[in-house]
Amino acid sequence: MTTTVAERPPINWLAAIVLTATPIAAALLIPLYAYFADFSVAAWVSFAVLLACNGLSITGGYHRLWAHRAYEAHWSVKIFFMLFGGMAIQNSILIWASSHRTHHRHVDEVDGDPYSINRGFWFAHIGWMLRNYETGKPNFSNANDLLNDKIVMFQHNYYLPIVLIMNIGLPLALGWMLGDLWGVFLLGGLLRLVASHHFTFFINSLCHMWGTRPYTDENTARDNPVLALLTWGEGYHNYHHIFQYDYRNGVKWYQYDPTKWLVLSLSWVGLTKKLKRCSDFAIQKAELTMQFRRAERQLERRQSRKADVEALKARMAKEYEMFSASLQEWAKVKEEEFTQKKAEFQQKWNDAAFRDRFREIERRLKDQRKRLRSLVAEAAAA
Ligand SMILES: [Zn+2]
Ligand SMILES: [Zn+2]
Repeated sequence: MTTTVAERPPINWLAAIVLTATPIAAALLIPLYAYFADFSVAAWVSFAVLLACNGLSITGGYHRLWAHRAYEAHWSVKIFFMLFGGMAIQNSILIWASSHRTHHRHVDEVDGDPYSINRGFWFAHIGWMLRNYETGKPNFSNANDLLNDKIVMFQHNYYLPIVLIMNIGLPLALGWMLGDLWGVFLLGGLLRLVASHHFTFFINSLCHMWGTRPYTDENTARDNPVLALLTWGEGYHNYHHIFQYDYRNGVKWYQYDPTKWLVLSLSWVGLTKKLKRCSDFAIQKAELTMQFRRAERQLERRQSRKADVEALKARMAKEYEMFSASLQEWAKVKEEEFTQKKAEFQQKWNDAAFRDRFREIERRLKDQRKRLRSLVAEAAAA
């Protein structure tokens, strides 16, 4: 069942033709048309608007809604994502989301991850689609929920007509209405498709190569703010791989994540709901764990003043242990909130002593976090 890199499975001709013919056609036709006819402003606007519709349907719909179930959406939002995600020609939601779940489950494994970066940039970016690799075979055993989703199955069954209508019919109709038939077709149709393809593919390739790892170093996923600009917020891929059920990828308020802003603002008008967020403390624990590990490694490398280094290491380990213990205590109370019956928990919460204890844990956690941070800084400077 295993496939090694050396084996060359048969070419997937349809994917290979689409993925090679569209960039070649764009590179030839667009400069020619610009030279002889010039593009209208409307054509450029159609490019930008359709690119955004495709990108956000893939990130907000295919990825965060269907692959990860990070929130729930109204049927009208789902239909929009289904149509404009289909327009991006990245396969049906069913195939895309189930193989993406496999990517998370077997991330980096050469024999398990459909687009493992350990098979190289080219493979992770586009190569995995050009041949019928064993790792890329559709397997819906992880997608029962999607098999029962009417909108997902409608798109899967009528995928080709949807792709053709959205990629040929829609740009031509728009071009006719805007009075620049070929301009809109070339920019809003062709160039938009090529750009949308490669910006999304960067998530599988560059987002597993370039950037920082603030939350986990157990896989290759990276946080990269520049790639976030091109991928509608999905450049915060290190965060995403550890907290995949969070509807946010750029979790900090200053991080550029338009997909998050879209899902959140739709929730204000009732079009999305049950947005999943990982707790702040779980996130901070992951960050501190990484800082702690890095500081420890840095200390390991320093040979001088061995006694000082050892003492600092011991203090850090102790602080970290205390922080973890408090965090566990905090998580236990939080869990009760979710698992106990609402009335029972409310009763407990009304008890001032219980409330005080919870607040005390939160205060303690804050202090410990501060101490741990300054210790990590001390270790970096040691
Ligand atoms: Zn990934
Ligand atoms: Zn994901």
